[in-house]
Amino acid sequence: MQEYDVVIAGSGPAGSTCAKALTDEGFSVLILEKEALPRYKNCSGVLFGQTQELIKSYFGVDAPAEVYCSNKYIEADDIREWDPIHGYVPYSWETDKDGRKFSRTYQNIWRNTFDKWLLDQSGAKYIDSARVKAFDASDSSVNVHVQMAQSKEPAVFKCKYLVGADGNASTVRRLLQSAQTTGPAQGGKMASFQSYYKLVSLGSLQKDSWTVFLMPDIGDFILCVHQKGDYLVLHVGGKDGRNLRDSMEKFKELLSRQFGVCLGEHWRDEGCKLDLLPVFLGEGRVLVTGEAAGFIYLNCEGISAAMDSGYRCGKAIAQTLKSGGKPAIDLYEEGCQDIRAHLEKCISQMRFFA
Ligand SMILES: Cc1cc2nc3c(=O)[nH]c(=O)nc-3n(C[C@H](O)[C@H](O)[C@H](O)COP(=O)(O)OP(=O)(O)OC[C@H]3O[C@@H](n4cnc5c(N)ncnc54)[C@H](O)[C@@H]3O)c2cc1C
Repeated sequence: MQEYDVVIAGSGPAGSTCAKALTDEGFSVLILEKEALPRYKNCSGVLFGQTQELIKSYFGVDAPAEVYCSNKYIEADDIREWDPIHGYVPYSWETDKDGRKFSRTYQNIWRNTFDKWLLDQSGAKYIDSARVKAFDASDSSVNVHVQMAQSKEPAVFKCKYLVGADGNASTVRRLLQSAQTTGPAQGGKMASFQSYYKLVSLGSLQKDSWTVFLMPDIGDFILCVHQKGDYLVLHVGGKDGRNLRDSMEKFKELLSRQFGVCLGEHWRDEGCKLDLLPVFLGEGRVLVTGEAAGFIYLNCEGISAAMDSGYRCGKAIAQTLKSGGKPAIDLYEEGCQDIRAHLEKCISQMRFFA
């Protein structure tokens, strides 16, 4: 059986940043990713100012050119809301954190290449097409049971800590706690669906802008459209159970009729369900981080929350492994106070859940 100091489920921003905090301290880390890499992710793929700072602070480098869309920049002032009564009004995605202001020039990335680049920077060993199915934890170690795509027999990896950085539908979190939740729920079950079309004409939509529509007759929460390279990405969201393909057709019809948008060939669809989870950080030798832990700053800024919580999770484990003092979960709880506070602030200001 292979042994590591830490095994991490999930190769998104939370998993890679958690790994980086640990490998920087010399610990051995294995990341297990259920998808084949590089994997796509249902996301607008925008790096807000805070995220840009975290990349520099935690990884010490800027992301390379290939992670960016050809239209790399989106100015915060070019994010606008539109409704049939008021027309365009300014729309703000960000809530200041600890009184700090961040760059208002956002960066437009491809999540598949960005996440793979971050993973390569993490210093961890990784295996893709490897799904964490179960674990058994004792006082001193954790055995992680993994279904690998190329073998029928599950593999078992032994580690001192397991981290669930496995996103909104976290298996690790579900196995750990199914019933016990802490803190207030942020909302209910939502679903998100987006489609990429070759861009023929933006019509009257402003170039390099991001337009948000709050139209309850089409979707229960945000509808938006923005350009990624040669593609236009259309997003619709709704309460779980709403027919989002129907919403998408209505949205396309609105864009064509009202704005003269002309779409070319359909490239791909992405979708996911979103359970707005209360914050839960794990217990004993099994911690959860990123969106799995409930860290996503509404309005949907999640990459910074994932990286920041992932890093603090990794640092907490590293400190306990080195000094043997306080349990990692306690250090992690203490280290996440400001992230929790910011999350609460974002929830109090969130705008788009009908
Ligand atoms: C429509 C939409 C638009 C968004 N736009 C933005 C945006 O523009 N900017 C922004 O900052 N945030 C955005 N977000 C939020 C952001 O995408 C997430 O919050 C962020 O990706 C969370 O990172 P994570 O590492 O916690 O999880 P994820 O990025 O979801 O990564 C989790 C990984 O775990 C893997 N995994 C899952 N289960 C297992 C398992 N059992 N075993 C092994 N691996 C597993 C998954 O395949 C995945 O690769 C958006 C979200 C949505 C829904």
